[in-house]
Amino acid sequence: MAFYTLGCKLNFSETSTISRSFEERGFRKVDFTDKPDIFIINTCSVTDNADKKCRKIVREARSISADAYVAIIGCYAQLKPTELSEIEGVDAVLGAAEKFRLLDLLGDFTRKPEPEIFAREIERVNSFNSSYSINDRTRTFLKVQDGCDYSCTFCTIPLARGNSRSDTIENVANEAILLGQSGVKEIVLTGVNTGDFGLRNGKREDSFIDLLQALDKVEEVERFRISSIEPNLLTYEIIDLVANSKRFMPHFHLPLQSGSDVLLKRMKRRYLSNLYVDRVEYIKKRLPHAAIGVDVIVGFPGESEDEFLKTYNFLNELPVSYLHVFTYSERPNTKAACMENVVPMDVRNRQSKMLRSLSEKKKRFFYEQNIGQVAKVLFENDIEDSIMHGFTENYVRVSAKYDPLRVNEIIPVSISAINVEGYAEVEELLENIHA
Ligand code: SF4
Repeated sequence: MAFYTLGCKLNFSETSTISRSFEERGFRKVDFTDKPDIFIINTCSVTDNADKKCRKIVREARSISADAYVAIIGCYAQLKPTELSEIEGVDAVLGAAEKFRLLDLLGDFTRKPEPEIFAREIERVNSFNSSYSINDRTRTFLKVQDGCDYSCTFCTIPLARGNSRSDTIENVANEAILLGQSGVKEIVLTGVNTGDFGLRNGKREDSFIDLLQALDKVEEVERFRISSIEPNLLTYEIIDLVANSKRFMPHFHLPLQSGSDVLLKRMKRRYLSNLYVDRVEYIKKRLPHAAIGVDVIVGFPGESEDEFLKTYNFLNELPVSYLHVFTYSERPNTKAACMENVVPMDVRNRQSKMLRSLSEKKKRFFYEQNIGQVAKVLFENDIEDSIMHGFTENYVRVSAKYDPLRVNEIIPVSISAINVEGYAEVEELLENIHA
């Protein structure tokens, strides 16, 4: 069988887990082009043209193996099961809960005359399925939470993934220990609304800080990173824990979406710009060298040029390290899709470009601040033209001459320059691991 995954880290970790369950039952994973008997396509509802992309992948799959079984899973499958089942060549569509029961539901993968749909109403999806990705053994994305109870007006994720629910602290800690023992050096804690960790069956049983405190004691894992956290859920206590921890990396990813309070309210975000500034300042006070990443949306309905410039200036003045810029696009069934004063596409594209260059500038400035510093880099299995890459604790991407003995090792380095590709170069690897 072969997999194709669209979307976020959560989707990748879920594909990875589903693929392991196939392998445990004796299936062999092959590349998409290796004429597999089964194709599993994991879709995303946030991806632009999700429908078009899905059609294209199905078409490609059919041209590679005309008789293969094609199953579609993921967020888009939960949102539009009937539409997807009508795509020529699709054999089955499985919803948010059913995707984890794929092997039982689809039996021997015999193609039926009509496509099958296995999806229940998202309100009834309450189970938590733990997942982790394991491409190489260096960094793993471990899912600790799923779903979201917020109702940001631009977002379809709550409709596709359901209510907020989490794994137990005990399970996450045990998974972390096993992953650490298997050689994984860094675990990235992933979820839809990760900071909302602690809800089980709609009841708050613990919270994100309890999870972090437990993981901070897991000696088998050298590094933990928090993938992304809503600013209103990033408490001083969490920042203090990261500041005092040897395991939690000084790196935060804080979705902002807009620097204008008018827009934040229209987006139904749960904070205003002053809270965001406060959290960034506290991070910088406790961890001056921390990396701070920001998600920002341009072209939300009703965003005037003045409001856009407010966001631009807001970000320009904040000591953040890089931006992930999203050009707003209408999603069916969201409140924002019905809002007035739609921003023309050419304006959205221009503004997006402006913020992307601001991001480059911010990143360069942040990287330059690291020149001359000694940093610890986890070199990954990401080799290109005899160069290996890795990340420092504060998420500076480093390149160095490939040395197989140093892959998947944490090595102290001295950062000497930023190269033309925008990576930090190292003057010397300070530890002689050959000794
Ligand atoms: S916090 Fe908002 S943007 Fe994030 S998943 Fe929940 S509803 Fe969507």
